[in-house]
Amino acid sequence: MTVTVGVDIGGTSVRAMAFDESGTAYARSQVPTAIGGGAQVVESVLAAWSDLALEEVVEVAGVGVPGRVDPAAGDVRLAVNLGIGDDPYPLGPALSAQLGIPVTVENDVKVAAVGIHEGLKKRNAAPASLVLLNIGTGISAGVVIEGNLYRGSHGMAGEIGHVVVDELGPVCACGQTGCLEAVAAGPAIARLAPDVEPADAASQVSRFIAGAITWIAATFDPELIYLGGGVSNAGHTFLDAVRGRLREAAKNSSLAAQRIDPNAITLAPIDGSTGPRGAAVLAQRAQAMRAINSFIPSTAMSTPTNGGEI
Ligand SMILES: [Zn+2]
Repeated sequence: MTVTVGVDIGGTSVRAMAFDESGTAYARSQVPTAIGGGAQVVESVLAAWSDLALEEVVEVAGVGVPGRVDPAAGDVRLAVNLGIGDDPYPLGPALSAQLGIPVTVENDVKVAAVGIHEGLKKRNAAPASLVLLNIGTGISAGVVIEGNLYRGSHGMAGEIGHVVVDELGPVCACGQTGCLEAVAAGPAIARLAPDVEPADAASQVSRFIAGAITWIAATFDPELIYLGGGVSNAGHTFLDAVRGRLREAAKNSSLAAQRIDPNAITLAPIDGSTGPRGAAVLAQRAQAMRAINSFIPSTAMSTPTNGGEI
């Protein structure tokens, strides 16, 4: 049996799952995340791995992590909740050295978007394209187009949290004023909480989230948009507020009505398997690419194998 392991690293827990070649999960584990830096993150992943108690040989593994990721190098930075700052931490190479297999690393929201798509595929219900708009401590989107993760040329596709939406709004941690994150992410809602009823907070935030959805629809034109992250735990109150904003916009504009059907926006599944499944799928795809590349004679490759030094 060919086994792939997918791991989702969160701020509070690390979830690992083992999948057989049909994509069926047959082992899962969850451990608390040790916070402090890259080495602690590696320890947590290894603890989750050992709790899987696998007897089979694992071929490849994939990891989703909150932060900026360079998937080619396997580096992570700005994973502030995990104690990883500006300096890139080589999470992929560190895990690969410990486990003795290739380890693919990708941003957690991008991974979750792939996981949602894969879950739908298993039920023969996958659209060609979907976007996961994640609203937690930050805001970002994972974009799947024609079944594949779309990163853009710098990995910035869907990184909409620091687009300025309110120039009179609060100063953001990034240095700009009135970023989407600063007005509509979890901490911004928490600031409203003492003075504002939950339904009113959902309504205030929904204005900005509905705006973000129109950018996403205008840019990627996906079939489905999922709302995920801590804020979506507010559930249907929040979803209804967002849909209501879009219906309002559509009343006076057939263009707005065509851009996105409010019913194409739904809450992301919160069953805990989405992240590990997406990470495993990305690991398998990276492995397939390595297999294809191994058939190309090395003389035909354009990348110098000596790092470019003469
Ligand atoms: Zn910002």
